Amino acid sequence: MHLGNYVVKFEDVLALKPGEDAMLVAGVSRLRPELYWAVDCDLRLASVAGGNSKLFWDLSRWHEGATLYEILGTVDPTSIVIDAHVRALAGELVAFEYPSNGRLYRSSVWPIYDDGGTIIGATGNSVEATEEIKLRRTLHRTEEALELAQEAAHLGTWTLEGHDARISWSSELYRLCGLERNVCEPSMDLLISHIHPDDRLALEVAFDIAFEERGSFALDTRLCRQDGPSRWVQHRGFVTVGPSGTLRAVGTVLDIEARKAAEARLLHRSHYDDLTGLPNRKLLMDRLQQALLGAQHSQSPVAVLYVDLDRYKTISDTLGVAIGDRLLAAVVPRLAAAAGVGETIARCGNDEFAILLADIASVDEAARIAERVVAAFAVPFDIDDLEIYATASVGIALSPEDGTTPEDLLRGATSAQQRACATGSGTFRFYGQATHATAIERLEFERRLRRAVENDAMTVHYQPIVDRFDRPVAVEALVRWNDDRFGNIPPDRFIALCEELGLIGRLGRWIASEALAQLARWDAAGLPLLRLALNISGRQLNDPTFAPEMAHALERAGVAAERVELEITESVIIEDVRAARRAVGELKALGLRISLDDFGTGYSSLTYLKHFRVDALKVDRTFVMDLPGDRGDAAIVSAVVALGHAMGLTIVAEGVETAEQAAVVREIGCDELQGYHYSKALPPEDFERVVRALGGSARTR
Ligand code: C2E
Ligand code: CA
Ligand code: CA
Repeated sequence: MHLGNYVVKFEDVLALKPGEDAMLVAGVSRLRPELYWAVDCDLRLASVAGGNSKLFWDLSRWHEGATLYEILGTVDPTSIVIDAHVRALAGELVAFEYPSNGRLYRSSVWPIYDDGGTIIGATGNSVEATEEIKLRRTLHRTEEALELAQEAAHLGTWTLEGHDARISWSSELYRLCGLERNVCEPSMDLLISHIHPDDRLALEVAFDIAFEERGSFALDTRLCRQDGPSRWVQHRGFVTVGPSGTLRAVGTVLDIEARKAAEARLLHRSHYDDLTGLPNRKLLMDRLQQALLGAQHSQSPVAVLYVDLDRYKTISDTLGVAIGDRLLAAVVPRLAAAAGVGETIARCGNDEFAILLADIASVDEAARIAERVVAAFAVPFDIDDLEIYATASVGIALSPEDGTTPEDLLRGATSAQQRACATGSGTFRFYGQATHATAIERLEFERRLRRAVENDAMTVHYQPIVDRFDRPVAVEALVRWNDDRFGNIPPDRFIALCEELGLIGRLGRWIASEALAQLARWDAAGLPLLRLALNISGRQLNDPTFAPEMAHALERAGVAAERVELEITESVIIEDVRAARRAVGELKALGLRISLDDFGTGYSSLTYLKHFRVDALKVDRTFVMDLPGDRGDAAIVSAVVALGHAMGLTIVAEGVETAEQAAVVREIGCDELQGYHYSKALPPEDFERVVRALGGSARTR
């Protein structure tokens, strides 16, 4: 029998003679404030001890032999005590609190077993605990209030205590994380795992520093929960050292979603225009500042286009502000289309817009976009079945030449726009006079180039390639453009531009079909059967339609693929080795020959070659130029020939201008020669004459 810490055999209790006291036997003094008792299965009091408290139950009734019913009488109207004993006799351990005489008592009752394990009675104790119970109840109520307050404020808390870093969470913290209490063990990791991945590191660092320095932190992060979108929360925490040297930390997690949303709304309102939804001048200036900072590193120009509608005031005065507003809104998508993706378009004034070009390759690109903006107004706006004609004037300022601060650039663009407007509606102007002149000139150049390509207005010249015995074996097609205004323009000046303007596909197709048709005509005219070399740009090679188109063109011209050689420069191959390999493979499968043009000028080195099934190398002109004098060049050409031959490649020497050069490269071992020594590139009729003179009309192949 256990009575508190005292073990007494129940038999001893039952065997007690009247007047003897089990508790005394067990060493419990009658002076103790607790009351101890034991009852048998009929709830008859077998023993009683302690209870030296004036405030206790009416102790005069507690005499052995009396039943609990008799003892308690009216004192236990709700039967709390009797119930507890009945439950104890059924094997339960019962703890309860009990009010009596305005005091509160804490009691417990247990079953008593005999040695065979049968319940033979119950024993209980009771102690007055009014203050403690009251305190606990208030505490409990405070906790409840605190939880309610936390829930109302969406404030979760956690506390971390001691060396084993046991953490406990408040109910609201579970709720914030979308978790059930009792289902998961709270931990720092659990909290971190509910933080948005992008914010995790920041919070971990904040924790670590606070723990290291025994300090505090505050940080906003997004909190993710499985059942909904993430919410913004604010973490605060502070870490202290407890009296025994253990770490203690408390933290709060406050839901600030509403505040963040309000902030975002405010921010949006202060940075964006209500009517068009575009960034306003303020945000434009911010972004311009960023762009200028970025440009310092990239060294690429930053341009600001200032766009003003020419007749806006007249339009809104005559048609009304509402129509005017709708016109402004309708302008936005057109500006966006002209500017291209990713560029900032801002509304700077009533009918004034600005386009920030933060990442342009050249001044020409700004001119092109300005031209597109102006052109975007060519089609009238349809608003409420009204056809409204509006034009725009555009001013362009560039960094660094026109200014290096956002203010300077915007001022420059505005003043350029005013000058454009003064020249006549629907035009654009650069701030700098010289820039403007060159930009206009270049746009005109581009316009003419586009027209020439689209009208197939170029011509193809042909340059022979001879073998070691000076017999013509191949012909390289070289494009020529003769413009009324700009005169004869070498391909070096327009091929790259055609790539940039997306014209190379069309131009390349035309050259190929033109040259193939010419080759077929020469075949028919009994010229030696020549191979045709076509120059292919990188864009063309990477165009998936290129190979099938080539096949088609060959078929149309009736020329065998084996007679056509595609010249690809090394740089194209190095740019994207895998893509180039695939493209080359596809072309080889058609039966076409591939040669590497300008060999030696790039960095491809011979090791690249083993990855490409090329047929020929064209040793660049620069290695032939200084022969026979330059020993270094001679050595390079020898090396290329030796390695190339080892790999079964044909070696062609380019730019052979003199008989000596021809002799040296032949001596070194080049298989084929090309250059002014034999002929420059010529129109078809002249070429035919030269070939007949060189190799006669005998078919050499
Ligand atoms: P490339 O493919 O290296 O063409 C050889 C260039 O060297 C030609 O210049 C040719 O006229 C010139 N040349 C030939 N023999 C001699 C010589 O003995 N001495 C000197 N100094 N030059 C010689 P061109 O026609 O001005 O072409 C320049 C480049 O433009 C070509 O270099 C080629 O990369 C490109 N190109 C020309 N036509 C086309 C074409 O139809 N398509 C493509 N994609 N590019 C072309
Ligand atoms: Ca070439
Ligand atoms: Ca070349």
